[in-house]
Amino acid sequence: MFLQPESRMRSKRQAFPGAEMRPIEKCSSSLAAVCRDISDILCAVRNSLLVVSLVVAAAVFASQPTSIAAQAPPGPAAESTQPSAPAGPVVVLDPAHGGTDAGARGETIVEKDVALQIARSVRAELERHGYRVVMTRNDDSNPSYDDRAAVANAYHDVIFVSLHVASTGAPGTVRTYYTQLATPITSAPVAAGAIAPPPNPSSPGLLQWEEAQRPYLNASHRLADLIQGELAQAFSGSPSVSTGVPVRVLRSVTAPAVAVEISSVSTPTPDLLTASAAPLADAIALAIAASRPANSGGPR
Ligand SMILES: [Zn+2]
Repeated sequence: MFLQPESRMRSKRQAFPGAEMRPIEKCSSSLAAVCRDISDILCAVRNSLLVVSLVVAAAVFASQPTSIAAQAPPGPAAESTQPSAPAGPVVVLDPAHGGTDAGARGETIVEKDVALQIARSVRAELERHGYRVVMTRNDDSNPSYDDRAAVANAYHDVIFVSLHVASTGAPGTVRTYYTQLATPITSAPVAAGAIAPPPNPSSPGLLQWEEAQRPYLNASHRLADLIQGELAQAFSGSPSVSTGVPVRVLRSVTAPAVAVEISSVSTPTPDLLTASAAPLADAIALAIAASRPANSGGPR
């Protein structure tokens, strides 16, 4: 590749025939002796042309490496540095509770705060893996269940992960849940401005808002088991399979949806809890990859 500028310079020299016929030093001595005849005048003109041509050739040569480098197609090394476009689902992280709903409380740990802290770290880890991550809250607000579900329902290809810190359980263990719909729904306050669920029992063709998860129960159960299987390896003492319980926030999500609960608020400092973010993100990424066909598993 670097031979190209030199060959181009040779072609520039050949574009000025006769330029090498008279060395510039020889003609310079004639000029010093004052040109008296036509041949000396022609010599001076030729010298001027030679100088101009050499200056032009040098300028063209100097410009070649930059322009060639700019036009050169990217080699294998350049191609390998291109970031791969995320191909996996959007991951919606839902830090539970918030605002006036503190969740579980320990002596120094408040669930809503640690859940948000963990969610932010999980988001950063998943983004490092190449996933697009959306949070249902990123401050001390408390969106309604329906608002949280609506964040996920805005996407076509998405999974929903609600993050909690338990009040019970051995510290350092983690449990994943999928929702069950058989039990009656516990009434929960709906925040002002929340998306109103469409109660429409007279229209059997329409899915009840609080039953929206029903078509995704199997997918959610499978995703929960895959995540829990990974977590069981990372967090000793954790169960190997997920558990089905009624989880209100999951019921209106029209996508695979799980809740992950880390034990517990009884730990003296949040360090043990926040340290779970990286292995939790890895577990989510591995579960996504395992739940999809080989060619569409995810960005990695
Ligand atoms: Zn909770």
